[in-house]
Amino acid sequence: MIPAQFEYAAPSSLEEALSLLCKNKDDAKLLAGGHSLLPMMKLRLAQPGLLIDLGKVTGLSYVREKDGGLAIGAMTTYQTLEHDPLVASYFPVLAEAAGVVGDVQVRNRGTIGGASAHADPAADLPAVLIALEASFTATNGRRERSVPADRFFKDAFLTPLSETEILTEITVPALSKGSGAVYHKLPNLASRFAVVGVAAVVTLDGQGLCERVRIGVTGAGPNATRAKTAERYLEGKEPTEKNLAAAAQRATKGIELQADYHGSEEYREAMTRVFTQRALAEAVSRAG
Ligand SMILES: Cc1cc2nc3c(=O)[nH]c(=O)nc-3n(C[C@H](O)[C@H](O)[C@H](O)COP(=O)(O)OP(=O)(O)OC[C@H]3O[C@@H](n4cnc5c(N)ncnc54)[C@H](O)[C@@H]3O)c2cc1C
Repeated sequence: MIPAQFEYAAPSSLEEALSLLCKNKDDAKLLAGGHSLLPMMKLRLAQPGLLIDLGKVTGLSYVREKDGGLAIGAMTTYQTLEHDPLVASYFPVLAEAAGVVGDVQVRNRGTIGGASAHADPAADLPAVLIALEASFTATNGRRERSVPADRFFKDAFLTPLSETEILTEITVPALSKGSGAVYHKLPNLASRFAVVGVAAVVTLDGQGLCERVRIGVTGAGPNATRAKTAERYLEGKEPTEKNLAAAAQRATKGIELQADYHGSEEYREAMTRVFTQRALAEAVSRAG
């Protein structure tokens, strides 16, 4: 459980971090909270020759209002998300989800940027960021680009970030009036990672019909993803128990269900449906 030898750099600016990353791109790894990378290094699943610590880079940890929603710096910790008054007022679902990640130590160190860039198939925030239709801003120093959440989590541990890009900001757009959002997970009792986790955002129209539905699922497949078939089924319909159940039955459509010692494919399928129905029902009740 001892990592291979590595060099360590602690740049103080984004420019310096990008320059180090560019010069050492085949051999460097960015370090945020270290709660995924350091265990991987200890298991020698990752053996970077250079660790570029983002901890001292100024201007990467913040929560600000932006275009009616929020802009969140990549180095913002779960602990901040859980307790920040802006997050609590704009997106309580994000604060709630951050509060059920791991334990206090993980939440004190782990960051929204690290969790997103790592793209663990069982991570919590990706499902929530997908349902909230967040976008991810990255830069390589010459070009900045933004990727929507439903195209960011491409596969297990795979995002569109290149080896010379740093994720700098996550933007969460304003929710329409009449929206309710919630995240429910079945946690692994040891680590608290999601065996299955479902985030739902439901917007009701003036007649009480489901105008817009967004569902993010984590844990069930190789990557967090939108449950588009379930969303489409419910949009335009009344949020009756029958309709919510029928939508939830469609939640695993298109997901390549995974099996491991925490659960079989069948178990994950059943749990995804159960947690989708619960999440939809609570999102509807919050929207009302
Ligand atoms: C005991 C334990 C329990 C946990 N339980 C849960 C849980 O219940 N739910 C959950 O979701 N997660 C859980 N985690 C994982 C935790 O959330 C990690 O903190 C998170 O996945 C990674 O964030 P980090 O800031 O620690 O990133 P790091 O570990 O520092 O980095 C992770 C990866 O992202 C890259 N990276 C980091 N920042 C950037 C950036 N700005 N731009 C580009 N690349 C970047 C790194 O190079 C690395 O490859 C748990 C971890 C542990 C150790």
